[in-house]
Amino acid sequence: PAMLGILGGGQLGRMFVTAAKRMGYRVTVLDPDANAPAAEFADVHLCAAFDDAEALATLARSCAAVTTEFENVNADAMRLLAKTTRVSPSGDCVAIAQDRIAEKSWINKAGLPTAPYLAIESVEDIQVELSPYLPGILKTARLGYDGKGQVRVKTADEARAAYANLGGQACVLEKMLDLKLEVSAIVTRTSPAQVAVFPVSENIHKNGILDESIVPARIAPKLAACAQQYAKQLAEALDYVGVLAVEFFVLGDDSLVVNEIAPRPHNSGHYTIDACVTDQYQQQVRAMCGLLPGKTDLLSPVVMVNLLGDVWGEDGSEPNWAVLMEAPNAHLHSYGKKQARPGRKMAHYCVLAANVDDALEQARALKDTL
Ligand code: ATP
Ligand code: MG
Ligand code: MG
Repeated sequence: PAMLGILGGGQLGRMFVTAAKRMGYRVTVLDPDANAPAAEFADVHLCAAFDDAEALATLARSCAAVTTEFENVNADAMRLLAKTTRVSPSGDCVAIAQDRIAEKSWINKAGLPTAPYLAIESVEDIQVELSPYLPGILKTARLGYDGKGQVRVKTADEARAAYANLGGQACVLEKMLDLKLEVSAIVTRTSPAQVAVFPVSENIHKNGILDESIVPARIAPKLAACAQQYAKQLAEALDYVGVLAVEFFVLGDDSLVVNEIAPRPHNSGHYTIDACVTDQYQQQVRAMCGLLPGKTDLLSPVVMVNLLGDVWGEDGSEPNWAVLMEAPNAHLHSYGKKQARPGRKMAHYCVLAANVDDALEQARALKDTL
């Protein structure tokens, strides 16, 4: 069987490996962490830095196709690999998603709305009238996730002080919007171009981290169709190949703005494993191998709940898994991480029910007994 390669061995990589192996492929994982969650199931674990020349040469030589599971993969490594083997998404697309300034300008270029924002590449850029962006959130252009690298600011003075505090690195100042809901749409685009979008997920965050995903999202069908259309439009504009997640804000007037994109399967798409005809990791395999996307139909209403290290005991003791095992409509997915830390994503579960209200009620009741 053909060997597939993935840069990154976190939980997304682990779920990718599981899907690829089930489909009959072999998998090589590149990740410097000896305990990377994906390594447990991989055929080969290259335990080396992401820009390690020898490891990249091995990947290029041994893999029929290579992909990534994390946003901050070295885009140049992706470009280098693309000289020898099939690589998706492209280094160029990954580079856009890594930089909020490039990302937002591409979203606007594709004809889609974002929150009003100011790109701040140097200190001169923030010496302008800031009122259109206040109160706002100052976000570092690079390397932020789970709300890290973000400062909420009310006044121009606060914004300038926060910018200085972040060491003068490139940032965006984004207007704080009054969010009614957050939703995401995950699109798969293959080459030659075929596009499939998963059902829209409603996402509830706690402390800047995804807590629950509810599918179908509790929004008007027309709005869901619009989010799916936007996701397709963006994939098209980027000439994207692979799985692309698009996060949206739903505003009070039921309009949508794009928050950000992720060039990979997404936490809000974990539900597809248990509740869709094809899951987002199978789509990633399909896209990277030049196959057609699979069907994305939802088989059942579903709620996904993230389990962070906070649910573990202070002595490292595990949650009471029995309650999940005994629930006949719950599916637990453990990431096999050895160390639980507050805020660290350790596992998730999905609850399938006849409607989302029942699924949500049961999912929350289960969480309370863990
Ligand atoms: P991720 O882990 O999803 O990559 P991130 O660190 O890149 O997160 P964002 O998605 O930009 O951060 O923001 C995190 C959360 O903060 C959003 O899901 C939303 O709840 C809130 N937020 C971000 N920007 C805005 C905004 N302009 N107005 C209101 N709330 C916002
Ligand atoms: Mg992000
Ligand atoms: Mg986000």
